[in-house]
Amino acid sequence: MTDMIRKLRENRDLSDEELREIISSARFDDELISSADMIRREIYSDEVYLRGLIEFTNYCRRNCFYCGLRAENKAVNRYRLSKEEILSCCEEGYRLSYRTFVLQGGEDPYYTDDRMTEIIKSIKERFPDCALTLSIGEKSRESYQRFFDAGADRYLLRHETAKDEHYRRLHPESMSSQARKECLFALKEIGYQVGSGFMVGSPFQTTEDLIADLRFLQELHPDMIGIGPFISHHQTPFRDFSSGTAALTVRMIALLRHLFPYALIPSTTALGTIDPMGREKGLKAGANVVMPNLSPVSVRKQYEIYDDKICTGEESAQCKGCLERRINIAGYRIVTSRGDAKTAEK
Ligand code: SAH
Repeated sequence: MTDMIRKLRENRDLSDEELREIISSARFDDELISSADMIRREIYSDEVYLRGLIEFTNYCRRNCFYCGLRAENKAVNRYRLSKEEILSCCEEGYRLSYRTFVLQGGEDPYYTDDRMTEIIKSIKERFPDCALTLSIGEKSRESYQRFFDAGADRYLLRHETAKDEHYRRLHPESMSSQARKECLFALKEIGYQVGSGFMVGSPFQTTEDLIADLRFLQELHPDMIGIGPFISHHQTPFRDFSSGTAALTVRMIALLRHLFPYALIPSTTALGTIDPMGREKGLKAGANVVMPNLSPVSVRKQYEIYDDKICTGEESAQCKGCLERRINIAGYRIVTSRGDAKTAEK
C-alpha cells in the first residue's frame, strides 16, 4: 500500500495538497477503491440499502442552470401526483420490500406546508415501520420543523458546490450557497438525518472546488452523501458543456468512504446513466445505497433532470429485479430494513 493510502486509512484525513494529488490523477485509483471497499465491508458488510424514490412533481420555481426541470424550460410536460397516487407508489414499494420512501420533487408551490404535512402523515400512518425522506429543496426553518413534526425522518439537500464563486456560476442570482448551507444546518438542528452532496464535473468545477466540497462535508458531517456526475441537458443553458465522468465520480466516492466511513453513500442513477456499469463501480468503490425508481411509469420520462436518464421505462418491480441482480453480481446483498446509518458507538 502506498504511504498516501495508508495515511488516508489511518488518519482518515489528508492535507489539501494530498487530496489534490489523489483527486487529480488516476494513479491511486486501484488502491483507493479497494481500500474503500474494505472500509465499507468492515462497517456495513456486503449490505446494500434500498430507497424507493417517488418523483412526485416536476414543477419547479427555480432556474438552476444545470437542471432540465428549471422553470424556464417550457418544453417539459409538467405533472403532479396526488396524495392517493403517492400512497399507491408506497404501497407498491412496500410490497417490493422497500422500507424507505424518498419523496423528491422540484420546488413546487402547489405543495403548501399543509398539503405536504397531510401527505407525510398519511404515509407514516399507513407505513409506520418505514422511514420517510424528503428532497424538496430550500424551505423555511418553520416548514422543515412542521414536516419533521409530521413524521419525516430524513432530508436530502445537496449543497451542489461549496464554494461561493462556483455556486454563483451554476445558479441564478436569487440563489446562494450560504442560503443552501443554512438550510442544511437548520435540518440538522431540527433532528433530521441529513443528506448532502455535490455534482462531479459540473461546468467550471476545479479540483479546488472538489476539495472545498469535502471540507464543507467535514464541517456539516451529514449522515448521507449523494454525488453523481453532472450530465448535460439539452434544454438548459449548460447544453454545450461536457458531462462529468464516471472515473472521477467513482474516485470521489472512494475518497468519501475514507473520510466518512459510516456515511450512507448512494450509487446514483446519474452514475448509471453516464456509464452502463456505473452503479456497480460505485458500489465497489464504497457506496452502500441504491435508490430504485418507484414513480408511476407514465410520468418517469417527464422527470428528466438530465438527458437520457436510465430506468424510465420499466415497472417498479422490474427495476427492483434488475437492480437486485446487478447488486448480487457485483458481490453485494440487498437488505430490506430501514437502513439507518451505523455509528461508531453502536
Ligand atoms: N429540487 C430538489 C431536488 C433536486 S433533483 C432540490 O433542490 O434538492 C436532485 C439532484 O439532482 C440535485 O440536487 C442535483 O445535484 C442533481 N442534478 C440536477 N441536475 C442535474 C444534471 N444536469 N446532472 C446531474 N445531476 C443533476
